[in-house]
Amino acid sequence: MNARPAPPEVSSVCCYCGTGCGVEITTDGHRVLAVTGDGTHPANFGRLCSKGRTLGDTTGRPSARLLRPTLRPAKDEPAQEASWEHVLDVVSTRLADAIRQHGPDSVGFYLSGQLLTEDYYLFNKLARGLVATNNIDSNSRLCMSGAVTGYKQTLGADAPPACYDDFAHAGCVFIAGANMAYAHPVLFRRLEEAKAAKPEMKIIVADPRRTDTASLADLYLPVLPGTDVALFHAMLNVMIWEELIDRDYIAAHTEGFAALRARLREFTPRAASELCGVHEDDIVTAARWFAQSPATLSCYAMGLNQYSNGSDKNAALIHLHLATGHIGKPGAGPFSLTGQPNAMGGREVGGMATLLPGHREPGDAAHRAEVAALWHIPALPSNPGLSAIEMFEAAAAGRIKVLWIAGTDPAQSLPEQALVRTALEKVDCVIVQEAFNSSETLAYADIVLPAAAWPEKDGTVTNSERRISRVRAALPPPGAAREDWRIVAAVAQRLAATLMPERVALFEFADAAAVFAEHAATTAGRDLDYSALSYELLEQRGPQQWPFDGKIGRTRLYEDGMFPTASGKAQFVDIAWRTVSDKVSAHFPLRLTTGRLRDHWHTMSRTALVPALTRHAEEPQLAMHPRDLQRQRLGSGDLVKVRNKRGAIYLPVVADDTLRPGVAFIAMHWGGAALGGQGINALTTRVIDPQSRQPELKHAAVAVEPARLP
Ligand code: SF4
Repeated sequence: MNARPAPPEVSSVCCYCGTGCGVEITTDGHRVLAVTGDGTHPANFGRLCSKGRTLGDTTGRPSARLLRPTLRPAKDEPAQEASWEHVLDVVSTRLADAIRQHGPDSVGFYLSGQLLTEDYYLFNKLARGLVATNNIDSNSRLCMSGAVTGYKQTLGADAPPACYDDFAHAGCVFIAGANMAYAHPVLFRRLEEAKAAKPEMKIIVADPRRTDTASLADLYLPVLPGTDVALFHAMLNVMIWEELIDRDYIAAHTEGFAALRARLREFTPRAASELCGVHEDDIVTAARWFAQSPATLSCYAMGLNQYSNGSDKNAALIHLHLATGHIGKPGAGPFSLTGQPNAMGGREVGGMATLLPGHREPGDAAHRAEVAALWHIPALPSNPGLSAIEMFEAAAAGRIKVLWIAGTDPAQSLPEQALVRTALEKVDCVIVQEAFNSSETLAYADIVLPAAAWPEKDGTVTNSERRISRVRAALPPPGAAREDWRIVAAVAQRLAATLMPERVALFEFADAAAVFAEHAATTAGRDLDYSALSYELLEQRGPQQWPFDGKIGRTRLYEDGMFPTASGKAQFVDIAWRTVSDKVSAHFPLRLTTGRLRDHWHTMSRTALVPALTRHAEEPQLAMHPRDLQRQRLGSGDLVKVRNKRGAIYLPVVADDTLRPGVAFIAMHWGGAALGGQGINALTTRVIDPQSRQPELKHAAVAVEPARLP
């Protein structure tokens, strides 16, 4: 009897968080049979979290997918199915008309950290190299741009210096504004194992909520939302006062310490305690543990970044490493944890208004000239581009005529939903390139381009430790859905044929490998240089970190104490104190913060398809401290109205003593569909960090009252 052939198995990467776990996908050629952890992948060595383990359950559900391209003949008419050829022609025509009539900056691209590097690269080449606009940004703006600015201001480049192996080498791990247990569960497992192997390791967690991550902490610091700079400044002040700083490292490898030191004098533990709500004794203990450990690693994420002072928070935390020399050695360094699976890759290709390929900047004429030369075009646009919030503000003001949205749901996920929805209504042509049909943005789409989803795509992603992995297609896309990069290339070739026929060839690629090869070449000579990397090498040697010298990727950065700044020295930044934009008041006395749940991802387009995941939290809730509930004569389960000057939402309240009094919490995942029209982002503010342009999604002043339903 013939043995049945083994089911095909494909190595790929989990499509959720920035940990970037390797997976093995088993299929029967038509559907996914199993998803297991890849035991050889250096990010996870076979481990998967609840989301990764259930990835297979998100596939094979055509009823959840967009299967055919559609067009809406007019704003008030229903969408109609159309052929790809026709729809691609229409997209190209709408872009060309807008460019001719209103100029290139009437076009905007709003992308996603869910896209693969190859998708991102071609979108960026289309925007900058053909449309000639810098109006290209991404939902990574909502996620990691504070970390980008923090790194660049202090270390000179957007490059996380540490790696996952550092958990095992650290003597102290300082976690600030990151709920790793929920948002990066496999990394949290590595931390748990390191702590179990080395019980003397100190873990400090600073967070407004006593999260599951804090359950592992030897010291928990209940910092008030938005006040981390006071905490970090006071810790550095203690280190200076108690002679715990590394004067030799500061003298040899840094600049600007004297100016910052003068600033820090006002941040005594007592004064800082008044600002940040952490007890002064705990500030002193945290400073001592951080400085006296043989190696200290800091992990941080949205709790630092999603504030109007997010860049300051990042820089102030990095100062602690520069002042103690806890950088560039095993177990030490500042380590931003990327939220999305490929927010790092998006930064590498320059798929944001403030970036160009290869960690270059559009405001630098030499950088523009370098990219123009690589792309064989005379010049790149020099007009400043619009970041995410600015792009939707411009759209609401009627200045964006064509808005192409790919892999993200701004109607739900951007702050100040009222303005975002006005913007989407105002734009002449909204193009939505998307895989799932649950996106609330689809209601505003004039053109829908059905995209392939995981595991139907070929490409690469870069995870939090700068490691590039291959994403491999295990199945063909359903219906007429297509890979994102192929859609972009097809539109670009049509648009080039209309506007600049000599540029058609710039968008001709045989496969994703060819796109990667062109992208990798743009990194040559830059801090992230992986110009020697190819799909072939990734096949032979597996996932690789950047920079990559042709043989091996670099595990950690700055081991020689040299930084990519003009002087070669890292920079202390003189950071003045400021806090959140939305101040609490008698009218709005509660500090509302937001975050993720363990088993959901973003707007739940995939995780809501898996019953095992929805069971963890079946409905949105407002969490408040029991004393706050008592004061308002509310009980768990009561329906409340949460309101502020921007909007109001209705949902049940629940008592939660992991919060401090005066702070409330709502998970970020539910939109208007679950909450009767308005999602959580009806309340959040579009005020941005002036440096990173990241909106303050983590804090809004609100009032809570019993709901009176009509
Ligand atoms: Fe996927 Fe992140 Fe879980 Fe790893 S930790 S399995 S990348 S969601």
